Amino acid sequence: MWTDLSLVSLTLICNRLLLALNNFCYHTPMAENIMEKLVALCKRRGIIFPGSDLYGGLNGTWDLGPIGVMFANNIKSLWWQNVVTSREDVVGLDSAILHHPRVWEASGHVASFTDPLIECKVCHARFRADHADDIKKHQAEHKDKEDWTEVKQFNLMFKTFVGPIDDEQNKTYLRPETAQGIFINYANVLETMRVKIPFGIAQIGKGFRNEITTGNFLFRVREFEMMELEFFVKPGTDKEWHEYWKKYRYQWYVDLGIKKENIKVVDLPKEDLAHYSKGTAEIWYNWPFMGFGEMEGVANRGDYDLSRHAEFSKKTLDYFEQETRERFVPYVIEPSVGVGRAMLAFLIDAYAEDDPTSSSGQGKRVFLKLHPKLAPYKVAVFPLLANKEQLVEKAKEIYKTLKQSTSVAFDDRGNIGKRYLYQDEIGTPWCVTVDFDSLTDKKVTVRDRDTAKQERVAIADLPSYFHDKLR
Ligand code: ATP
Repeated sequence: MWTDLSLVSLTLICNRLLLALNNFCYHTPMAENIMEKLVALCKRRGIIFPGSDLYGGLNGTWDLGPIGVMFANNIKSLWWQNVVTSREDVVGLDSAILHHPRVWEASGHVASFTDPLIECKVCHARFRADHADDIKKHQAEHKDKEDWTEVKQFNLMFKTFVGPIDDEQNKTYLRPETAQGIFINYANVLETMRVKIPFGIAQIGKGFRNEITTGNFLFRVREFEMMELEFFVKPGTDKEWHEYWKKYRYQWYVDLGIKKENIKVVDLPKEDLAHYSKGTAEIWYNWPFMGFGEMEGVANRGDYDLSRHAEFSKKTLDYFEQETRERFVPYVIEPSVGVGRAMLAFLIDAYAEDDPTSSSGQGKRVFLKLHPKLAPYKVAVFPLLANKEQLVEKAKEIYKTLKQSTSVAFDDRGNIGKRYLYQDEIGTPWCVTVDFDSLTDKKVTVRDRDTAKQERVAIADLPSYFHDKLR
């Protein structure tokens, strides 16, 4: 009896507090722009911080906070699972970031990894000459005084020196892609692993590009992680494999919740192909700041890379096919995506707001409708009241049990409404509340992030309940 009554009054108090909190959070002027809202959300919830924030920031860099690093790790491990562990024809690699400088000559990056640069003579601001919108916007600022330099090619690789002497001989570059680390290990993998064509080598690692202009949050930065697969195939089968990987990678995004209307695969016209490409498709996302544009590239690189490395290293990088007794340089299909760019698409796609009249009954709230596999925390466990020892103890016990098999948060700060709002904003799909009834009926309330619906679940069933949901 006492428990029933106190639960009713507690629920009322919680709802009041929730409303008050909503008023506080949402009646302040808030930018309508989803990107501004996302950047702010990511900062206030420990997902992504501006790089070098303490010193006023460093353009084109962002730091992953405690929640962001869990999110990025989920993206990377789901990619690895999709591309490596769930398959029989792909192995992994983790090459050094620094390569012999000849690698970059062989790959063509020294000669042609460039973007066209143009400079405003009035204020010395620099732009990509092929980014017409940026130039137009800048022109408007100087109206009558418009004056530009000639377009020149700017190499995007960051230079560095190996060892203590800063001279030409010791110069190399921070890798602008991880792919070359794979090509220079192709022969090592072939010799040491029982791989037969068709097979792939996958790698996740940092890439660095000294982009002329950065922007749109994680979309274009100067330091970013890449997830790349080089899939080696027999020439003549390359078109078929290209089609295969386009579909396979597209499906990965859809299976992880990207809305079908926001994603498409586009074949690039011949004039847009990179110097090495025999055909490139891109998986495009519908970015709020530019409409459809590249999220992932799926290129048919032909035999360009292996042939060039064979030529520059003077080593044989061809393949002998036992069955046909043929020797050939394999062609390569390369799906390649930045972790941050994929993360941005998942964030944008998942960003949701409820208005006060919504069926969730939660009032106005912001929530990330992330696929549970992507969500940093899968579950959050709360004691209904932080000052009731028995509730806290029971909640801690549940938290520790669930933590053995999945990523779980424990929260006893503030009131329950505030805790829900917090977990909604970082995309936690389920919240578990231990109340007074839990001590006798051995059940807890599980609340669903998207519908805000609640159900009672036996404590003993929780591990299998979440296991089933996360399958
Ligand atoms: P873009 O045309 O957007 O500059 P790109 O064609 O140069 O991209 P690729 O060289 O194909 O890109 O790189 C593979 C992937 O790496 C891209 O699809 C994207 O996901 C990611 N990527 C490339 N450059 C950046 C960057 N500056 N910041 C964040 N991610 C990037």
